[in-house]
Amino acid sequence: MADLDIAANLEEVRRRVALAAERSGRAPSAVDLLVVTKTWPPGVIAQVVEAGHSLLGENKLQEAESKIPELPTSLQWHFIGHLQRNKARRALGIFDVIHSVDSLRLARHLDRIAGEMGKRPQVYLQINAEGEQTKGGFGLDDLGETVREVVSLERIHLAGLMSIPPAVAHPEDARDSFRRLRELRDGLEKELEVSLPGLSMGMSHDFEVAIEEGATIVRVGSSIFGPRKHLRSTSH
Ligand SMILES: *Cc1c(COP(=O)(O)O)cnc(C)c1O
Repeated sequence: MADLDIAANLEEVRRRVALAAERSGRAPSAVDLLVVTKTWPPGVIAQVVEAGHSLLGENKLQEAESKIPELPTSLQWHFIGHLQRNKARRALGIFDVIHSVDSLRLARHLDRIAGEMGKRPQVYLQINAEGEQTKGGFGLDDLGETVREVVSLERIHLAGLMSIPPAVAHPEDARDSFRRLRELRDGLEKELEVSLPGLSMGMSHDFEVAIEEGATIVRVGSSIFGPRKHLRSTSH
């Protein structure tokens, strides 16, 4: 895809994000756009950077480690894939935010490693409310206890909840799932008297619906870069 297309796509997605934010009664600045760069080489990613975008997401540690050094150091990188505990140190070396904390053991481990590294990363708990076998994440059982413990950890800061809802034919079909995540968050805030402002939900296909239902950060790749060609590396 030519440079102009990527810059124009980015502009168009930003415009749609802002309009959806306004429909949800919020300022456009209340919703962050995480541009998902997985499978794209640094030369392609540079095009969104040159267009003024600095909030980027990757889902594979090794791929990120090879690409990030090729790009400006001013960028902020978020990790959105499954993270193995034994890679926590490497991940915290390059990522400021982890969207995909999917077990209490991982949360505790990240907290310990962050302490050793003198870092204060933000994390989201990945929720798998539908119990899909192919995806990680917390089910709803004992979620209150889990959140209570993660909030109590000293080094990692719990920003909120994240989800990857089942693929649907029409964006509107994802609305219930997004709304349920928001209601789950609202319930936890009330029950535990904690603040969980962040909702990481919505991708290329359905980010406007996610924003209407309260997303504070949407993760968008193919609407900006076009379809990913390397199918093997697109899985979650
Ligand atoms: C790939 C990916 C995205 C972006 O998907 P698009 O449909 O290309 O926008 C968002 N979130 C996660 C967790 C992903 O792995």
